[in-house]
Amino acid sequence: MILEDDLKAAIRTIPDYPKPGILFRDITTLLGDARAFRRAVDELVHPWAGNKIDKVAGIEARGFILGGAVAHQLSAGFVPIRKKGKLPHQTVRMAYALEYGTDEMEMHVDAIAPGERVILVDDLIATGGTAEGAVKLLRQIGADVRAACFIIDLPDLGGADKLRRMDVPVRTLMAFEGH
Ligand code: AMP
Repeated sequence: MILEDDLKAAIRTIPDYPKPGILFRDITTLLGDARAFRRAVDELVHPWAGNKIDKVAGIEARGFILGGAVAHQLSAGFVPIRKKGKLPHQTVRMAYALEYGTDEMEMHVDAIAPGERVILVDDLIATGGTAEGAVKLLRQIGADVRAACFIIDLPDLGGADKLRRMDVPVRTLMAFEGH
């Protein structure tokens, strides 16, 4: 697929970062390429052009960069989902699975009104633990999670399928084998 090849060429792969055996998919090269960045954002929002989306929720930290651009493109608001202890106002919190153990993410309790239509954004989905936690957090405050979108899918790790089993449509722009 031409789009996938084109955008894939803009991703840099760093072997053994942050630890041995991991192939780190670095999107900073895509973000730094004006054409690739615009193309990626346009493609991410494509299915919802003309739909009324109230809010885009971005997962810290790379989801903020993409989510801000996606929100602008959809004329939607932006909501940050952050690591615990970073948000100043009253929050709701959700534990999520990491490779070893768990962590917690937070969102402002009044960031989304019940029934608002929300799209979740991050750069990459691997095991889906992070995105699953974000969907649960959004649903906890009554958000209508319409979709989750990611530039990169690592399908062998099953995260996108995990979200689909939670009735969240998933959009990804490219896939890499392995992890
Ligand atoms: P997961 O919860 O397993 O789906 O992991 C997704 C989160 O970890 C995302 O926020 C990604 O940015 C990050 N991540 C996981 N694996 C990689 C990888 N191979 N390269 C870059 N980022 C990754």
